[in-house]
Amino acid sequence: MKETYTITLLCVFCDVPLQDEEGKEYRSGDLIKCQQCGEENDYDSVLEIAKEKSIAEIEEDMTQELMKALKNIGK
Ligand SMILES: [Zn+2]
Repeated sequence: MKETYTITLLCVFCDVPLQDEEGKEYRSGDLIKCQQCGEENDYDSVLEIAKEKSIAEIEEDMTQELMKALKNIGK
C-alpha cells in the first residue's frame, strides 16, 4: 500500500492534469484555466472529482491488502 496519495486535478473537458500557476493557491469559487484546451474549470468541481477518484484508489489498495491478509490467515 502506498504511503502517500497525491491528488491530481484533471480538466473536466479534456482530462489533462491541470497545471497550477506558479505560487497561486486556488480556493472555492475559483476558475482554473486548462493549459491544454483553454477551458476554465470550476475549482470546486475538479476538486470533488479528484477526491472521489482518490478515495476509489485508496479503497482499491485497501481491498488488495485485506485480501492478502485473509490469504495469510488461511494458511
Ligand atoms: Zn482541458
